[in-house]
Amino acid sequence: MKLFVFPAVTLIALATLFMFESSSSQELLTNHNHAIAHRPTTMDTIPDNFPFQKTEAEWREILTPAQFRILRKKGTEFPYVNEYHDSNKDGIYVCAGCGQILYDSKNKYKSGTGWPSFWKPINDSLVVELEDNSLFMTRTEIVCSNCGGHLGHVFDDGPNPTGLRYCMNSAALKLVDRDKAHQQLKKD
Ligand SMILES: [Zn+2]
Repeated sequence: MKLFVFPAVTLIALATLFMFESSSSQELLTNHNHAIAHRPTTMDTIPDNFPFQKTEAEWREILTPAQFRILRKKGTEFPYVNEYHDSNKDGIYVCAGCGQILYDSKNKYKSGTGWPSFWKPINDSLVVELEDNSLFMTRTEIVCSNCGGHLGHVFDDGPNPTGLRYCMNSAALKLVDRDKAHQQLKKD
């Protein structure tokens, strides 16, 4: 009898643990969906003091619905199912909204988060940091310094030498040939 009870108790303990793990993952996923659909409206506003300006109607015309939701409405795409999270291709990542150069593929690294991650922008002046107090936490939002488009967030758990992780949305970026970006690189 005792021999039977022990495995049964272990099984119940494991099952409980598994259920707890599942509910945690589910909670995370739910939170993530929440982040996409219900960001506070005050945070949806892009400041209008950036050099590259377009009306909402004009943005809708040149951007895909996903690009518009992320760049202009501060949305977040799903991890692992976006275009560049796992890309090793060489090139320069430019803003999908205005074309400004932002990141070099040489500064991209595998963060395991499911979003394209860089340890630095090509130049600090290419991005602007804004305080984001949505979702009951304080994060540092990263926007394009030319059009103000929402790109993602920066965290301090990145690799050396900066220790930073620029966690970006693929839909906010476009990977272009290094040669094509060369002129703009020289200019900056
Ligand atoms: Zn831009």
